[in-house]
Amino acid sequence: MRRGIYPGSFDPLTLGHLDIIKRAVDLVDELVIAVLNNSSKIPMFTVEERIAMIRDVTKDIECIRVEPFNGLLVDFASQIDAKLIIRGLRGVNDFEYEMQMAQTNRNMYPELDTIFLVTNINYSYISSTLVKEIIKHDGAFQNLVPEEIVKYIK
Ligand code: ADP
Repeated sequence: MRRGIYPGSFDPLTLGHLDIIKRAVDLVDELVIAVLNNSSKIPMFTVEERIAMIRDVTKDIECIRVEPFNGLLVDFASQIDAKLIIRGLRGVNDFEYEMQMAQTNRNMYPELDTIFLVTNINYSYISSTLVKEIIKHDGAFQNLVPEEIVKYIK
């Protein structure tokens, strides 16, 4: 069985993330959405809130699991026996960091491969950071995130 991991902070999940999820499920038998519980970054939504939101958004998509993780992604991948990481690429700004991460991970776990899905052009400008900034200033974020997320945020 080919198990893939789509890791991220998802603080909160955006339409860009959802597009990657929908495309990634066609590439694997099971997709584990791994939600980073990072103690050095203070998130807007707790890991439990982010997981609940993602489960709601993806409830009709088969073969998806949503789980928290902390520490090294390679350790989590080895624990759940996954050898494929999926990441989204929005543009050249993402590329350098993503390539470094992919090479570092493969160095620590040689069986692990990372594949990149190039973002849908309609969502390439969307980031969780941007969404959080708009929420903080009471702006219109409704067309940047799935409708289930809009309900949670409200
Ligand atoms: P991280 O904190 O790991 O960067 P994010 O939650 O910001 O986590 O993003 C998780 C993954 O989703 C990354 O691979 C990122 O490049 C990708 N991603 C983020 N926003 C978009 C978008 N608008 N379109 C496609 N991929 C995206």
